[in-house]
Amino acid sequence: MAFEGLADRLQSTMKKITGKGKVSEQDVKDMTREVRLALLEADVNFKVVKDLVKRIKERAVGQEVMESLTPGQQVIKVVREELTELMGGEQSTVAVADNPPTVIMMVGLQGAGKTTTGGKLANYLRKKHNRSPLLAAADVYRPAAVDQLETVGEQLDIPVFSKGTNADPVAIAREAVEQAKAEHNDYVIIDTAGRLHVDEDLMAELEQIKAAVTPDETFLVVDSMTGQDAVNVAESFNDQLAVSGVVLTKLDGDTRGGAALSIRAVTDTPIKFAGMGEKLDQLEAFQPEGMASRILGMGDVLSLIEKAETNVNEKQAKELEEKMRTASFTFDDFLEQMDQVKKMGPLDDLMNMIPGANKMKGLKNAQIDESQLVYIEAIIQSMTKDERQDPSIMNAGRKKRIAKGSGTSVSQVNRLLKQFNEMKKMMKQMTGTQKGKKGKGMNL
Ligand code: GDP
Repeated sequence: MAFEGLADRLQSTMKKITGKGKVSEQDVKDMTREVRLALLEADVNFKVVKDLVKRIKERAVGQEVMESLTPGQQVIKVVREELTELMGGEQSTVAVADNPPTVIMMVGLQGAGKTTTGGKLANYLRKKHNRSPLLAAADVYRPAAVDQLETVGEQLDIPVFSKGTNADPVAIAREAVEQAKAEHNDYVIIDTAGRLHVDEDLMAELEQIKAAVTPDETFLVVDSMTGQDAVNVAESFNDQLAVSGVVLTKLDGDTRGGAALSIRAVTDTPIKFAGMGEKLDQLEAFQPEGMASRILGMGDVLSLIEKAETNVNEKQAKELEEKMRTASFTFDDFLEQMDQVKKMGPLDDLMNMIPGANKMKGLKNAQIDESQLVYIEAIIQSMTKDERQDPSIMNAGRKKRIAKGSGTSVSQVNRLLKQFNEMKKMMKQMTGTQKGKKGKGMNL
């Protein structure tokens, strides 16, 4: 998981100070010392750590904290705000050109994840913003890069402009933009060549492409697992190409988080997206505040909402909310609900975004057994229509039949029925207390 080590250390540091009714300067000193060590261990740039810790210390011993009623919590608020600021403060945006297409150029070293991220980004823009992107294959050097992008395009059913590997990358980029205009694609995402190291030839070619198509965004793709190397690469690219945003890939495997926490401060370039896995839907808009909360174990509601909005059908969500309110929720709805949650990605990822989930006994580090979902589905599918609508008709004979049909046992069927009833009861309570508050229909 991303930031695992740092999150553990910071959370235990914060725990010591949370409940304090009085925070002394010595407490602050101890806390900042531990924060400093945790950040350095997470491979955050030395100067960045120094500045950050200085700011936290100043604020933590300031009036705002010391004179408040809950100084312990105020200190944590300060740490969260400073971490958020470090990663860029506000969530950044993606350009929309006045005259479409909007051109996005992807640059970065070989292996950073450029080609994959180009596909993910196209998918994101289509799914989240209803755009119709065109991918352009201008990496003619890496063997198979063109084929790889074409495969990605096929998987996503997104068009790819390519001229094979014998064409000039500048001409490819230019013609891709022309084609996008003709075909009414509102975004063009250009995959460019990478090298193993930053070199002059590479920069010269990227500059030529940039001059030819004047991109609205130049996104630098860096592998977050390379830590401070990623920061150095970002500095070199930014000096030469004036990058407009960074995409951090492989954050799913980056247990330390040094690149994510240093890149913005060192290069003054916003982190726009984070790659959270190899699959083409595992790209998240980078949310500094959410990320800071996740590191401090406070959940990340912003990302959770964004995930829900990207993946969940709004109409279905509204209908479901109505059913919950009127307590007419059935097993059919339950199945549909499960389907929607599954679309949001692995359950383990979701758990880390739920505030407080990490504090629940037994839940922290709990491996959620997704195979159980298969049984639940099978049980529901073995029910008749009437049973799904009104589980109160269930008797011993019916339960036996369902267990047999789903390859489960009667006790598993009973367990599900019990869970379902409890869930319904809880929904009634929740929607009861929220009556009158018009919900936005977020489906979870
Ligand atoms: P390129 O040379 O920069 O075009 O890199 P590729 O797009 O070919 O990616 C290199 C490798 O990194 C591939 O195996 C990708 O599947 C993998 N990869 C890319 N992004 C991510 C990510 O966010 N998470 C993980 N776990 N793997 C990624």
